[in-house]
Amino acid sequence: MIKLTDDIELKLQNLKKSKNRDLIMNAFRQAKNPLSADDIFHKLKIKNKKLALSTVYRTLDKLIELDIIRETFKDGDKSMYELAQEHHKHYIICTNCKNIVPLDFCPFHEIEHKIVEQTGFKISGHKFEIYGECPKCHSFCE
Ligand SMILES: [Zn+2]
Ligand SMILES: [Zn+2]
Repeated sequence: MIKLTDDIELKLQNLKKSKNRDLIMNAFRQAKNPLSADDIFHKLKIKNKKLALSTVYRTLDKLIELDIIRETFKDGDKSMYELAQEHHKHYIICTNCKNIVPLDFCPFHEIEHKIVEQTGFKISGHKFEIYGECPKCHSFCE
């Protein structure tokens, strides 16, 4: 279970109580990898049979607005989310089995100054994901 930062705990405490939101936050705290709205829906449906997918989306929107979770990347047109408290991560995704592996470094920092030089932008954030075939899938082909 990931421990929430004081900052996020405080934001949550200031909200009106919601059982679904608590369940969604627990799903994120237990998740090793980013979750899609569908992932969350299927996980929580077991505990709450009346849960609607639209409720999951609505709750996610609210949590994003409050900067409690963030969109990490898109898998096709499916958005994947994670807790917004951790150091940002990048992922490499297997196009075959959809296995997701976090990178333990950010490749962006090495090119950031080049982009600033070229565009004059003050950069506030970045997002990218890398695709390929994982070793397991890769070795099947050989
Ligand atoms: Zn694979
Ligand atoms: Zn990065």
